[in-house]
Amino acid sequence: MSSSNKPRVRFAPSPTGYLHVGGARTALFNSLFAKHEGGTFLLRIEDTDVERNRPELVDGILAALKWLGIEWDEGPFFQSQRLEMYVSAAEKLLASGAGFACYCKAAEYAGGDSAEEHEGEGDDEGAKSKKFVPCSCRDLTEPERSAKEREGTPHAIRFRTPRTGATTFEDAVFGSREVQNQDVEDFVLLRSSGLPTYQLSVVVDDIDMRITHVIRGADHLSNTPKQVLIYHALGVTPPIFAHVPLILGADRTRLSKRHGATSVGSYAGEGFLPEAFRNFLALLGWSAGGDAEFMRTQELIERFSLSGVSRTNAVFDRAKLEWFNTQYLQKPPVEELLPYVEAELKRAGLWQDAWAGFGRDWFARTVDLVRPRTRLLGDFTRWARAFFTDDFDYEQEARDKFWKDERLPAMLAKLADALASLPDWNHDACDAALRQLAASEGVKAGFLINATRVAIVGRAVAPPLFETMVVLGKDRVVARIRRAVPLISAR
Ligand code: GLU
Repeated sequence: MSSSNKPRVRFAPSPTGYLHVGGARTALFNSLFAKHEGGTFLLRIEDTDVERNRPELVDGILAALKWLGIEWDEGPFFQSQRLEMYVSAAEKLLASGAGFACYCKAAEYAGGDSAEEHEGEGDDEGAKSKKFVPCSCRDLTEPERSAKEREGTPHAIRFRTPRTGATTFEDAVFGSREVQNQDVEDFVLLRSSGLPTYQLSVVVDDIDMRITHVIRGADHLSNTPKQVLIYHALGVTPPIFAHVPLILGADRTRLSKRHGATSVGSYAGEGFLPEAFRNFLALLGWSAGGDAEFMRTQELIERFSLSGVSRTNAVFDRAKLEWFNTQYLQKPPVEELLPYVEAELKRAGLWQDAWAGFGRDWFARTVDLVRPRTRLLGDFTRWARAFFTDDFDYEQEARDKFWKDERLPAMLAKLADALASLPDWNHDACDAALRQLAASEGVKAGFLINATRVAIVGRAVAPPLFETMVVLGKDRVVARIRRAVPLISAR
């Protein structure tokens, strides 16, 4: 197959907000589809809505996509730099009679544009069945029109929607869709300001960019008949549409800030791993068939297809996202995790350059020891802080529970001496030294183990003690036990 037959898809965010979970999921589906098919994935910034755009948000959207590991092959293209194309398409439609000049002030034409051309404000059930009053400018005679022009009345260009018949299209997810044309208003293509509406610019660009599959949120289903009408009027076959289901919060209403963070950036900041987030997003409205959940990105690419996309709205389940994160913290080879832990340690000011060099093995072993108990990257610098710095504190609860026996200071002082005199520092030697002391003091080994754990890592729940001792090293362990002795006495 020549490359020209390969699919071309696009993600087309409007910079009116941060990259949110729904947008990221749409971007991911496009990217997985392109990779699966050996096609091309474009990024297009839809920034023609001067009132709602915030250009400063573009960088954040790009950064969030990069964090997620979603790479585009072409772009980013900016619609604001392509305005002439939309104007000439509108003029072409005007010349062919598919469009007409409308001299009404925006507010005068009650059947005018609804909010549905804006992102996220459309409804997902197709155009509502309400009858639109055709704009009176639709039937202006040539003399009437010239008169308006002479008066210098500004005009928009509207689409002359047929008053009869129906517009149909096939959706790869939602199946055959049909809308009665009488339910579609004479929507604006080009505003009197010369700026295109979303309906026009999206079609012009999807044609110019040779997009074969439009994969986007189901909130755009209701826009699609208008776009199909424009395609037909321009004499172009529409692409394949695939509308992906909405994402709801736990209460089954559309996911919004009320449900907690919706921007991808906030999940990055919270310490989620990009691959975990990708795996989680991929399953919001798509399934590989069967029960498969933990799927590394290569597997997602191999298995992704539009036929696995569901019509049923997906529910954003934070507990599930956390579950994915623990999977990705714990399962892949530890080397894959090291760069993320390194970044987290740098963020917390705990990083030491040696860990990138001769200390790399130590760093890998330590991360490997700690990771079974982590849920978020921040755990490495919070509860596991003592693995990376001597500057840590002792959890109050752990002190209360395991440092309350008054014989402990003396016993720990002896333990420090015993450990200090060990010729070899390894798991079994530390284990034997501690058990020997416990026996001679007449206490259970567990009693000393728990107290020692709090002394060396400040926590009651931490990795196994003797493995912890090995990674921390003799000097640190002995010094920390000695440091704890007066703290225990002072209780
Ligand atoms: N700019 C639109 C949005 O952000 C894109 C819609 C589309 O993909 O056609 O919702």
